[in-house]
Amino acid sequence: MANDPIPTEKQSLPLFGLAPDELRDVVEDLGQSKYRAVQLAEALYKQRVQTLDEITTLTVELRERLAREGYVVGLPEIAQATRSIDGTERYLMRMTDGETVETVWMPNGDGGERGDGSEAALEEEASYSDEAEPALRNNSAKDGAPGSVGEYKRATICISSQVGCAVNCQFCLTAKLGMRRNLTAGEIAGQVSAVLNRQNVRIGSGRGVQTPSRINLVFMGMGEPFLNYDAFMRSVHLLRAMGIPESRMTVSTSGILPGILQFAKEPIRPKLALSLNASNDEVREQIMPVTRKWNISALLDALRTIPFGKREYVTFEYVLLGGVNDQRQHAREVLKLLAGMKAKVNLIVWNPGPGIEFHEPAPADVAVFHRMLIDGGIPTFTRRPRGRDIYAACGQLKRTVDGPAELVEITSPGGVRN
Ligand code: SAH
Ligand code: SF4
Repeated sequence: MANDPIPTEKQSLPLFGLAPDELRDVVEDLGQSKYRAVQLAEALYKQRVQTLDEITTLTVELRERLAREGYVVGLPEIAQATRSIDGTERYLMRMTDGETVETVWMPNGDGGERGDGSEAALEEEASYSDEAEPALRNNSAKDGAPGSVGEYKRATICISSQVGCAVNCQFCLTAKLGMRRNLTAGEIAGQVSAVLNRQNVRIGSGRGVQTPSRINLVFMGMGEPFLNYDAFMRSVHLLRAMGIPESRMTVSTSGILPGILQFAKEPIRPKLALSLNASNDEVREQIMPVTRKWNISALLDALRTIPFGKREYVTFEYVLLGGVNDQRQHAREVLKLLAGMKAKVNLIVWNPGPGIEFHEPAPADVAVFHRMLIDGGIPTFTRRPRGRDIYAACGQLKRTVDGPAELVEITSPGGVRN
């Protein structure tokens, strides 16, 4: 179903994204009693309605009144969907002001959760060692139709936190966009609502048919979540209201030190991943200029302030760039840096993109690097590249469509393009 028409005379006021007390203010301003706010929250976050008309627990008069006042549900719209041969889908999400970001749906995840001690990790590890577990099947749509994902046991959704990014990592396509604007909390969590609706996933008592659904979230799309900290944290609470626990969320930061310190104090927080990407400051400064502001040892000190749970590991992401950071001496340096920490490492083979002058690492170098970290006692995993043929893999989330986009379904022609 299409989203609410955007009122033209008044600025549209999205309801999705408002916290319970803010919804209460909205209904009280309209002279309604408080329980209307509870019904609104239920409709927005549990039933995942897309239009005011769908909120049938409210009277028709109240829905019309809300519309007259300029209120809309305000979910991002899937303006374009691209499907990879591996089942990954990449979406161009259009916000109410026309700005777009990308969101990725990965049935069966990408292997990134393994080894961090969480429930999501145990499931993922089991699926790697025991492919005999019967897969869930989404029977809600035929293969090839929107909403069809084939077989999957769980899924990971990769969400964006900003339109573009200001951090300027030299190997990342998103950096090429520059920074356009922050997303609101509603726009961050709204990406998940839009994807779950498309995939017909039911969480708890909410809408959809696909159940039981183990949905993991990674804040690893476009943008730096810790440079949009308040909206990011608010979105975590909205996502919990949608039935996704914070233990199934991972936020990745390039190393924004004040953000890490603030995160350490949160009573409710997702898992954390730090994009280390280099074994010393010299290399890191070259590929991630933000290192000049906060160097590796300052970042590691900041991580130590986080009161990790007993089984909790901090994830270090390490993008392997051929000849730059993927040699034996780099692996030795990583081992020294992480000695004594409850750390796990996700190695990510660099995904090439137009206009970025790095090289993919040699497969033999990846294998040696991986082995050296394991032998040094660090749980290490090499991330499965997902959706490379549709530019949905890490660091490839760069908007490909400008201006008003239509809803078009693009099925990847198959084959890996890069
Ligand atoms: N801004 C945050 C989260 C988004 S980037 C961060 O940087 O952590 C998510 C991950 O993708 C990061 O670990 C980043 O280092 C990695 N990445 C960026 N560009 C990449 C590329 N071209 N190939 C592989 N990984 C990449
Ligand atoms: Fe921004 Fe992360 Fe890309 Fe760096 S790797 S430019 S922080 S999105």
